[in-house]
Amino acid sequence: MTTYDFDLFVIGAGSGGTRAARIAAGHGARVAVAEEYRFGGTCVIRGCVPKKLLVYASRFADDFADAAGFGWTLEDEPRFDWPALIAAKDREIARLEGLYRKGLEAAGVQLFEERATLIDAHTVALTSSGRRLTAEKILIATGGRPNTDPKLPGRELTINSNEAFDLKSLPNRIVVAGGGYIAVEFAGIFAGLGVDTTLIYRGDKILRGFDEDLRDGLIEAYRNRGVRFVFGTVFKSIEETRSGLIGHLASGATLEADAIMMAIGRSPNVEGLGLDAAGVACASNGAIVVDENSRTSVPSVFAVGDVCDRFNLTPVAIREGHAFADAQFGGRPVSVDYDMIPTAVFSTPEIGTVGLTEHAAVQACARVDVYKASFRPMRATLAGRNERTLMKLLVDGVTDRVVGCHILGPDAGEIVQMAAIALRMGATKTDFDRTMALHPSAAEELVTMRTKTATLTRG
Ligand code: FAD
Repeated sequence: MTTYDFDLFVIGAGSGGTRAARIAAGHGARVAVAEEYRFGGTCVIRGCVPKKLLVYASRFADDFADAAGFGWTLEDEPRFDWPALIAAKDREIARLEGLYRKGLEAAGVQLFEERATLIDAHTVALTSSGRRLTAEKILIATGGRPNTDPKLPGRELTINSNEAFDLKSLPNRIVVAGGGYIAVEFAGIFAGLGVDTTLIYRGDKILRGFDEDLRDGLIEAYRNRGVRFVFGTVFKSIEETRSGLIGHLASGATLEADAIMMAIGRSPNVEGLGLDAAGVACASNGAIVVDENSRTSVPSVFAVGDVCDRFNLTPVAIREGHAFADAQFGGRPVSVDYDMIPTAVFSTPEIGTVGLTEHAAVQACARVDVYKASFRPMRATLAGRNERTLMKLLVDGVTDRVVGCHILGPDAGEIVQMAAIALRMGATKTDFDRTMALHPSAAEELVTMRTKTATLTRG
């Protein structure tokens, strides 16, 4: 019988890899994990967590502005200190990283703090130490990395999301390129912190794939908050001048800024990983191809999380890592259910969404009943703020099942997380209507929408 150094070798200690390593070790497996940067991965070190901390920071501007309507007087003009925020964020991330590391050690996982690559179906090489280690099973959980535009002259003058978290000072003017949630969130953060913010995107609207009402509503809200949009064009080149950066656009126009952030998508982190050597098959964009049990084309090699480019979200990577470990080492064959994944965009105002968009619902259902409410949240009244909250339920007109729930407004993510349970359980519009309202709240609107705003059919 072949003896391996480990039962499982995990490459990458991010959301998916850490969960898989801990759970497999808990099932009694001899587990090792290699991490080339910092424990916790993208989510903890340069993704969800630091992003949300920056979002919180950016929203204090609204709190200060609204406070006067509630009787508060702020004696001095509030001042913001970017280095202080970044230092506080770094301390929190270091704390979380420590917890990730401790969790792995406590589970008995052996840690290697260096890059690992595949040599063959059962062997990894550690880059710094030069060691080679074998394992019965190998899990690739190397995540993703920000895309760059290799043909863009002056791209070295730009930053990506990794670098945005560590800027030494807050720019006065920023241009964010991209239309996905990362671009939109960072534009909101910078605008909230008082930076003159422009978002440039090659399409005609941000947030492709989200419900159209949310996309339109957020564009309007951002415009009212002073964010400029430049749609339908891209950077042709970027140059540095004495007064900052100048971006030349394909449209012929120019944009001036102190910083330009590229948030033009992410790609699976597979470069130089040795996938060819091990015979692991990838899709044309580099994503590792896996089946519903996270198994690659090589029976002993598995992959979870962003490196598979399915639903690139932390909870999904965690679920995939957990299911893999339970199935392979715990004798519990489970696969992940991707139905009704709730998501948020931590813009200000925030987006929370679960289920089908209106467009997808019309494709999927013979008839779709639309319920929409647009209202000024209570806090906005005394604050004198005009921003509106939008709530939308999409109902299968035949079965009465609620198939989509979309919110633009404060706490949208929190509300939608709970609505997702109901949708996941197959709740009908009648179930929503029967649920007692919690008053006064914004979420009560979801159970008090009585009037259909439209009935839609295909074609
Ligand atoms: P990762 O967490 O990326 O972990 C991969 C790890 O592998 C990294 O630590 C990396 O250093 C390591 N690694 C790579 N190659 C090697 C190698 N050869 N050897 C050793 N180590 C290696 N998701 C949400 O759900 N909500 C959000 O609000 C959210 N916000 C985000 C904001 C930003 C700016 C970004 C970039 C992402 C955000 N995400 C969010 C996505 C989320 O971070 C990812 O979906 C999640 O981290 C994926 O986990 P993973 O385990 O697949 O990979």
